[in-house]
Amino acid sequence: MTRIIAIANQKGGVAKTTTVASIGAALAEMGQRVLLVDLDPQACLTFSLGQDPETLEFSMHDVLLGRISASMAVLKTDEDMTLLPATIDLAGTEAQLLTRTGREFALRTALEDIAGEYDTILLDCSPSLGVLTINALTAAHEVLIPLQCETLSHRGVGQLLDTIADVRRITNRDLVVLGVLPTLFDARTNHSRAVLADINDRYGLDILGPAIPRSIRFAEAPAAGRSVLASGGRIKGAQAYRDLARGLVDGTATAAQPELIGARA
Ligand code: ADP
Ligand code: MG
Repeated sequence: MTRIIAIANQKGGVAKTTTVASIGAALAEMGQRVLLVDLDPQACLTFSLGQDPETLEFSMHDVLLGRISASMAVLKTDEDMTLLPATIDLAGTEAQLLTRTGREFALRTALEDIAGEYDTILLDCSPSLGVLTINALTAAHEVLIPLQCETLSHRGVGQLLDTIADVRRITNRDLVVLGVLPTLFDARTNHSRAVLADINDRYGLDILGPAIPRSIRFAEAPAAGRSVLASGGRIKGAQAYRDLARGLVDGTATAAQPELIGARA
């Protein structure tokens, strides 16, 4: 059965795109057939996987508006993954979808034809709670929330959970929240742990693990057109994503929770 996971947080710079590329690469290393979907008009995922968004003939814009089938837009990446790319055209997609009936279901409908060809589909959301993100949450079985642990991070999580509650009520009753993934994580600070403990208390969300450590190699990978798993193979951050991917497959990705929360004092 195909597993569709949305990676969402309306805050920019929390490592959504990095998480999509890295979990995808890790699952592909494990032999899975992986499809990545770029739903951000800034097309960072598309670019970071070695594609030039400026020169693409088709993108998710055409797919979401029903002009072409998803299979016409897919591209192969160097790391054995398949990509449904974004271009700047996607910035206009929301406005065009707004006037359509069933606009929340455009992605789910588009993926129906090809979903069976993949073991896992990862949806890279844009930094907003607009129609594109609602489409992702409507098409997904599960949602994973990357979070940079800083003061007031919880406020964004609260807003996202409100949106998820709406989606559950109206378009996707079975959507499961996998939990919060600490990214850009600095284990040396008590503050990061306190933020996670607060989010766990406040919303009862699972904290996924291992937390992804901050590493300069992540900032370098996109320019090379490959994920950090391919370009920085053995670094700690790459290994953390491999362990996370394994945990998502086994259902043990929350194992780090007691360790993180317990360290509060
Ligand atoms: P988002 O998609 O949520 O906007 P990105 O994945 O684009 O976030 O990441 C934002 C920036 O942080 C990028 O420059 C990326 O390379 C960098 N980054 C992501 N994860 C890490 C990490 N673990 N350590 C250091 N830099 C990171
Ligand atoms: Mg992004």
